[in-house]
Amino acid sequence: MAVTDHVNLEQFIAGVEKRNPGQPEFVQAVREVAEDIFDFIQDKEDYHNYQILRRIAEPDRVVSFRVCWEDDKGNIRVQRGWRVQNNNAIGPYKGGIRFHPSVTESVLKFLAFEQTFKNSLTGLPMGGGKGGATFNPKGKSDHEVMRFCQSFMTELYRHVGADVDVPAGDIGVGAREIGYMFGQYKRITNQFTGVLTGKGLEYGGSLIRTEATGYGCVYFLRNMLTRVGDDVAGKTVVISGSGNVATHAAEKCVQLGAKVVTLSDSGGFIHDPAGIDQDKINWVKVLKNKARGRISDYAKEFKGSTFHEGKTPWGVKCDVALPCATQNELLGDDARMLVKNGCIAVSEGANMPTDLEGVHVFKEAQILYAPGKAANAGGVAVSGLEMSQNSARISWKEAELQQHLLDIMAGIHDRCVEHGGRKGSQVIDYVRGANIAGFKKVADAMLAYGVV
Ligand code: NDP
Repeated sequence: MAVTDHVNLEQFIAGVEKRNPGQPEFVQAVREVAEDIFDFIQDKEDYHNYQILRRIAEPDRVVSFRVCWEDDKGNIRVQRGWRVQNNNAIGPYKGGIRFHPSVTESVLKFLAFEQTFKNSLTGLPMGGGKGGATFNPKGKSDHEVMRFCQSFMTELYRHVGADVDVPAGDIGVGAREIGYMFGQYKRITNQFTGVLTGKGLEYGGSLIRTEATGYGCVYFLRNMLTRVGDDVAGKTVVISGSGNVATHAAEKCVQLGAKVVTLSDSGGFIHDPAGIDQDKINWVKVLKNKARGRISDYAKEFKGSTFHEGKTPWGVKCDVALPCATQNELLGDDARMLVKNGCIAVSEGANMPTDLEGVHVFKEAQILYAPGKAANAGGVAVSGLEMSQNSARISWKEAELQQHLLDIMAGIHDRCVEHGGRKGSQVIDYVRGANIAGFKKVADAMLAYGVV
């Protein structure tokens, strides 16, 4: 193989920008990874010659399709759906489906790219993918959601399969939406296979899948703290979001003896200085999942708490921050404020919640900072275990799965420490560790396949 000219980081990013115009989230995600990988592959000719990073940063395919559905008033609605299949070097494509008005091809490409590294980090055989639509389930009736999900799956079924691509939930896609999509897949194909994860327990779902992302995020936090002789107990924690990841992260914090003081949604955040205990978390779960209400209602329900409209919680003094809502929700100034207020650890439940400036602030301050691709991998890991159970047609017990989740999060932490340490320093760069460990496994598999 002829040795190609090596480009530097800025030339590489310029090329990514040129090939992906108007896709800032995707370029941001690639840059964050490339900053570490360029350093790592400096002396590794094969990775250069076979253009491995450039190939991972070009999705295997992006499928875009029309989704038509009829609302309750009889209007025909037309929306766009996508499935991004980023890389299947180490296993079938795997990654969630997001229904939210903010969904764009750029957002899904960044998520599928990140997912490739995250899935690799879990140690399970899963490639990276992501999908979604601009559909907003909020304010829609159950029947409208059902008709949308059925229409979405009527195209998606051609591109997925238990050994091809296995989607799961994400923002706006929970148990209800997965149920409707699985039902439609089964109807069209007449097959009962593990084509989706996050399914209900009655039809092939796995125990602890719902809790896994939030719990895993706090396990990762605990692993980082334990390494430096500290503990979760007694910490004051600020959390953003009030969905699946946020509420389960809050639950695990409370179980481990920490005090959670904030939750949020796209309308603002609530601050409860007395602490959001298990009863209050249960109330939020019902509010969000059943009543489909807003977090502002919390301040009306619980005395002593306050609602801060249009604001994020990063100005509240804390020891630990867990961003669990969405991408780019924690900016450079927020990061500086957290550090100034004494925050010692950040574990990301959401995907890419911290912008690049914020990432650099955390790195320079040398606080414990776990990027989403490591800290929130517990969800996809248990999805991987759901795939195994479906293939073997068995169901594991809860205790067994809890132990798997603990072991997998510990394994991810160890891999980050192995690749994120620098000679002569006790500080671990978890971003670098996660990027390199995630990259290496995928890259080595790609080398084995040659140029395909
Ligand atoms: P949910 O839909 O259950 O909850 C999302 C939460 O984030 C809601 O509180 C929502 O508020 C808030 N949110 C969404 N968009 C915005 C925004 N633009 N500004 C402020 N708040 C916003 O989703 P999940 O909890 O499942 O997902 C949260 C994050 O975790 C996402 O980044 C997702 O990709 C990531 N993740 C999820 C996994 C999972 O297993 N579910 C696995 C790994 C990562 P509102 O109701 O107002 O929209």
